[in-house]
Formats: sequence, structure tokens, C-alpha cells
Amino acid sequence: MNADVNASDVILPGTTLGVLGGGQLGRMWVQEAQAMGYFTAVLDADPTSPAGLVSHHHIRTGYEDPQGLAKMARLCTAVTTEFENVPAAALDLLAQSLRVSPAGSAVAIAQDRAAEKAHFVRCGVPVAPHAVIASPDDLAGVAPDLLPGILKTARMGYDGKGQVRVATPAELASAWNELGGVPCVLEKMLPLAHECSVIVARGRDGSTAHLPVQRNLHRGGILAVTEVYEGNLPPALISQALDAAKSVADGLQYVGVLCVEFFVLQDGSLVVNEIAPRPHNSGHYSQDACDVSQFELQLRCMTGLPLVQPRLHSPTIMLNLLGDLWFAHGTQARTPAWEQVLALPGCHLHLYGKRDAKPGRKMGHLNVTGATPEAVRATALQAAAILGIAPF
Ligand code: ATP
Ligand code: MG
Repeated sequence: MNADVNASDVILPGTTLGVLGGGQLGRMWVQEAQAMGYFTAVLDADPTSPAGLVSHHHIRTGYEDPQGLAKMARLCTAVTTEFENVPAAALDLLAQSLRVSPAGSAVAIAQDRAAEKAHFVRCGVPVAPHAVIASPDDLAGVAPDLLPGILKTARMGYDGKGQVRVATPAELASAWNELGGVPCVLEKMLPLAHECSVIVARGRDGSTAHLPVQRNLHRGGILAVTEVYEGNLPPALISQALDAAKSVADGLQYVGVLCVEFFVLQDGSLVVNEIAPRPHNSGHYSQDACDVSQFELQLRCMTGLPLVQPRLHSPTIMLNLLGDLWFAHGTQARTPAWEQVLALPGCHLHLYGKRDAKPGRKMGHLNVTGATPEAVRATALQAAAILGIAPF
């Protein structure tokens, strides 16, 4: 694929690599980096952060702390991020002295829905009809056919937070006030058939590799289930999604792992929703069902190691394990019956080491692998029933 990788550009195992952010994505990146023989540094102010707990070094400062960033720069040969809201300025500062991927400029676009939509339009990929609302004039000028729609804050949204569904101009106006009058994007509510996403990795030499396209089910704005196997989506849609993801990554001159999320509409057409400049919850299945995981791809991108195309070796379904599962009848604390789930074939449990379970909090995920899609589905449904996850 890229046999012309320049050996002098490669950062080999034995050196220290860093990640900004100490959440579960950072933790799984640390675990993969350590498996490959790298030392790791995590920058996160939280002393109990999931990644900080397992890393060789944990720098406990904020993302903009000059001393924390200086220490990161001293320790590491290359740095990445696991959190898209890391200030782009912090990445830019680190980039003055070491290799940083993805670049602050790409992360800055992913941090802002308005900039993100403009980038999709530039790349010629289809987006939901939308309008940027940054002033009362913008509000007054909204085209009526954008309603009913979803008003989303341009910055800092995740897991459906910072979003309000609106049906009328009056509801739109009060929703914008409710969100504090900050810059927002109003998106037309689209008739979804499913959702899907692509994890694409782009190297420093512009070469790319991708995971197979995943089909996703969201509940309450949060990813619930990801299904990946032959036949999960129509082949024509898969190739459109891969082409669109590649255009979006190429257009950003992106280096690293990028997740591109899509809506599949009821008429079968595809619309890009948003990007995440990092590994993504919908790519976690790759840890157990692919011969190269999304975290290994991230390491290969940041170190300049060759990108090889991952191969799905087992049909798979991932179930997200949200904090809700730690409560019976919504209130009574309990421990999910892991021993029953792990008695089922092909169940791989991943827990993130978070002490407090809260409803909606991502505590872990379960990857189910098997010989056939039917077998995986049957097992995943059994696991879901044991854990109290609604059938899908
Ligand atoms: P993430 O955790 O993925 O970053 P987010 O908070 O950024 O989530 P979105 O991806 O914008 O939120 O929306 C969350 C979910 O809400 C989507 O996956 C989809 O199910 C639904 N949704 C969002 N926008 C629309 C739309 N325009 N039409 C229909 N459904 C939508
Ligand atoms: Mg999303």
C-alpha cells in the first residue's frame, strides 16, 4: 500500500507517545500503544481519568496549562488527541516542537458544526439542509422548509446534548434563547432509515485505510448498537460512504483516525452528519472483530508506520454499556451480571474503569463476535436481555 514510507520518518516502539484527554478513548489508545511497546503520557486534569489510570505518565493539568504542555513536549515524540474539544491552540503549540496529529486546524473544524458543514459542502458531499443561526437576523431569516428541525449548538455538543427539536418559528426562537443565544446550526429533521459511520485513517503520506462501514442504532441521541457484517448495508451505499469519508479526510489534509457519521434516509440516499477527529465509539468493534483496530490505526498514523487495510475476520455486534445498566428499575444500584454474559460465546467485555455509573454515561462496551451474522445477532440479543438493554 505504501511501501515508500520513509524509514527515517517512522517513530519506532520504545519512545513515549502522548494523548490529550484521559477518557475511555485515551485509555484504549494507551493500552494499544503499550501492547506495541511504546511508553505513554496522558494529559488530563482529572486524577482518576480512565486513561491516566493506566498510562506510564499522567500529567494532571488543564489542556492550556503551559507547564503541562511543556512537560508533554519534553516527554513525547508524537502527540494525538482523544477529545475533539481540546483547544486547537494547545495542539498548535505542541506542533512547534513535536509531531501532532491530527493538526489543530482539522480539529478546529470538527469542533464547530458550522465550519464542519461548510467543509462538507466544499468537499461536494451531501449534507442536511441547514442554516447557521448566530444573530436575531439569522433567526428571522430562517427558511420555513427547515422546520421541523433540530437546533444544535455549533460548539461543545456530544451525545445529543446542546440540541433542541423545534417545529415552529416560535419554538425555534425560544429554543435559541434557551441555548443562550450562542451560535447554532438549525438542521432540517430528516426521515432516517438508519445511521452508519466510517472510520478512515489517513497517513502523513496521504495514504488511507478504513474499517468496514458500520451500521449504527442511536437511542436518545446516544449510540446504542453497532452492527458490522456482510450485508449490513447495501453495497452501493457502502461505496458512497467510503468515497465521501475519503473526500472529507483528503479535503482536511487530515493525518490520523477520523470518524465520519452519516444518515441513511428512507429514500436510500446518504447525508453526512458530522465528523469526530479521533477514534469513535462506533469503531470499537474493531478491537475484537478486525485484525487491526482503530486504536492501532491511530498509532500507525501518528508514528508514520505503514497503514494496512484492516480485515473484518468475524461478523460482529457492539452493545454500548451505559450507566443505566447499573440500576435496577432506574434507581436501585446493582452490578450487571457479567458472569452470565461471559458464559455466552464470543462476548468480549470492555469496561473503562469509571467509578461512578450515571444514566447515559459510557461505562464500557461489549463486542460480540461469531461465525455468522445470525449467530452473532442471537448472542447479542441474549446478552442485551441479560443486561437490560432493549432488543434491537
Ligand atoms: P455525538 O455523540 O455523535 O457527537 P451529537 O451530540 O454530536 O452526538 P448528532 O450526531 O448531531 O449529535 O445527533 C445525535 C443523533 O440525533 C443522531 O445520531 C440522530 O439519531 C439524531 N439526529 C441528529 N440530527 C438529525 C436530523 N437532522 N434528522 C434526524 N435525526 C437527527
Ligand atoms: Mg453524532
